[in-house]
Amino acid sequence: EVILSVRDLTASIDGNPILKGVNFEVKAGEVHAIMGLNGSGKSTFSKALAGHPAYEVTGGTVIYKGQNLLEMEPEERALNGIFLAFQYPMEIPGVSNLDFLRVAYNSRRKHEGLEEIDTFDFEDLVQEKLDIVKMDASFLERSLNEGFSGGEKKRNEILQMALLEPSLAILDETDSGLDIDALKIVANGVNQLATPENGTILITHYQRLLDYIEPDYVHVMAAGRIIRTGGKELALELESRGYDWLLEEEAVEV
Ligand code: ADP
Ligand code: MG
Ligand code: MG
Repeated sequence: EVILSVRDLTASIDGNPILKGVNFEVKAGEVHAIMGLNGSGKSTFSKALAGHPAYEVTGGTVIYKGQNLLEMEPEERALNGIFLAFQYPMEIPGVSNLDFLRVAYNSRRKHEGLEEIDTFDFEDLVQEKLDIVKMDASFLERSLNEGFSGGEKKRNEILQMALLEPSLAILDETDSGLDIDALKIVANGVNQLATPENGTILITHYQRLLDYIEPDYVHVMAAGRIIRTGGKELALELESRGYDWLLEEEAVEV
């Protein structure tokens, strides 16, 4: 079953073409890693999929579970099961983490025609999910992301993901300067939450992350295109040889 199908996607920022024809497909049960040098367009790709208003899609098609994703508002994309960590506000003073999670969870339920979850049932459910990220319950009473450490923000992202059970999770780790603990949290979360029914896109320039996650496919993005796709061995080769040889083989100008 195909979850996401991207064909010849082009996108611009402020009129500058960044994505220059991305082709990409995710089937149920697959974990895809997208790697590449800084500035290759990885975050632009994830933001275009999220529907970020600054990223103008200028061509191509994106089909998500049989629907035209490009016609969906960013909120609709989330309600239909696309999870993008960065779409959530960084800090919301005065809103507890628990309240925020409940609102997000209930919007999803409402969209599926279900009633709001009982407050106590929700707390039980969250408690269960806290174990996945090894977080203490006191964490839930804190203001959303206010004063969270990098590792706590990561844990919270994975907690959101565990609750929302997305059909397609897109994790862009590139700019977050993850330490080894945060890497392991992300890796554990991905490993536990990847199921035969959903798909995961892991954007990273850290080969290290792939020491903890076994992706089904590794893609290399350069100059706004996916220039090569392979298995885990491709990531290992990039680690030992760098990117230059590949850019040369594919005649990519960067
Ligand atoms: P990556 O995530 O692979 O490092 P990005 O998608 O962030 O790459 O960036 C791709 C290109 O788009 C870079 O040349 C970057 O400078 C440019 N770019 C990214 N965001 C913006 C922006 N908001 N305005 C203008 N140019 C941008
Ligand atoms: Mg799997
Ligand atoms: Mg990036």
